[in-house]
Amino acid sequence: MSLIEYLKNHIIQHGPVPVAEYMALALAHPEYGYYMRGDPLGVAGDFTTAPEISQMFGEVLAAYFVHQWMKIGQPEHFIFLECGPGRGTLMADMMRTGSVFPGFAEAAQVHLLETSPVLRDKQASMLADYEPVWHEDLSEVPRDMPILAVANEFLDALPVEQYEMGVDGWCARKVGYEDDGEGFWIAMDGEGAVTPAFDTALAEQRAKIGEIAEVSPARSGFVRAMCEKLKAAGGSALFIDYGHSKSGFGDTLQAIKDHEYCDVLAHMGEADLTAHVDFEALKNVAERAGVDVSGPMEQGEFLRVMGMFERAETLKEAATAKQRTEIEVALRRLTHPDEMGRLFKVMGLSYGG
Ligand code: SAH
Repeated sequence: MSLIEYLKNHIIQHGPVPVAEYMALALAHPEYGYYMRGDPLGVAGDFTTAPEISQMFGEVLAAYFVHQWMKIGQPEHFIFLECGPGRGTLMADMMRTGSVFPGFAEAAQVHLLETSPVLRDKQASMLADYEPVWHEDLSEVPRDMPILAVANEFLDALPVEQYEMGVDGWCARKVGYEDDGEGFWIAMDGEGAVTPAFDTALAEQRAKIGEIAEVSPARSGFVRAMCEKLKAAGGSALFIDYGHSKSGFGDTLQAIKDHEYCDVLAHMGEADLTAHVDFEALKNVAERAGVDVSGPMEQGEFLRVMGMFERAETLKEAATAKQRTEIEVALRRLTHPDEMGRLFKVMGLSYGG
């Protein structure tokens, strides 16, 4: 069977599924889910992420976390947690760079939150020196030690619910299937109006008919749980993702396969399916939980103030002409407003220190 067959049968028996359920199945179905199947990253995969573009990304983030570690009083032991570590490249770069600062790497206990068995294997070989501990869920991460956590392109993979404004109010958008040749569809399902759990920022905005709104209880829940971890023993968390700093309406669900955007219903379980992160909503969650929030700010600006341009210059001094070009290309991809510099946002949470 494939995810297509599975979903067809499921919809025929139980009716259309809400967008969030579709997203969860497409990404995380134990057998057919996208992240259960293979390594999605890199040239041979479907998409490339910042740590895969350049080691400078992890180097700059290491500087950030060393600073956070100092802020909480350089504890002798802390949990260095990465959520959705992909191939483990970011953590490897951060640990390598962090070891330059006396005591940091020795104090770090590497913990990884990862569901994909294929990626766990890659992380195991990439990070063997650091004897990482894996978790399926944030609730498994110990709370008796300060935590420094990072999540790059992790939140975008957590499901969003979608609603569309109809004549009678908001209706849930669902994925359905017609046997008469139309096949799968995604649209508002006419069961009548519902009251979505919008954050205030969205609830205060007036929507025209046909407007689409997204909310993600999965992301809010994750950030809330992270805040509770930070409050237990202190620490900080850095979230990096594409998304918007202010809540607004719009359909941002997207699928990517072989580095190209494709229809969100095509290639089920074989394309990456994500939606933009509403950082304003998550900032509100964190503030309500009582942790300090910095940002969100644009990734380009964050990397600039964290010293990535100076780092690139230093690397170029010892590089060949070809490597110098590669460094410049990577720097541009990570920081330029037309590349990842503006669309990607960075938001920091911290507690204590
Ligand atoms: N952070 C990495 C990889 C990003 S891809 C990088 O920047 O290269 C998304 C990562 O999140 C993958 O490792 C994927 O397996 C993981 N992931 C997706 N959904 C998850 C979930 N619900 N719980 C834990 N990990 C998840």
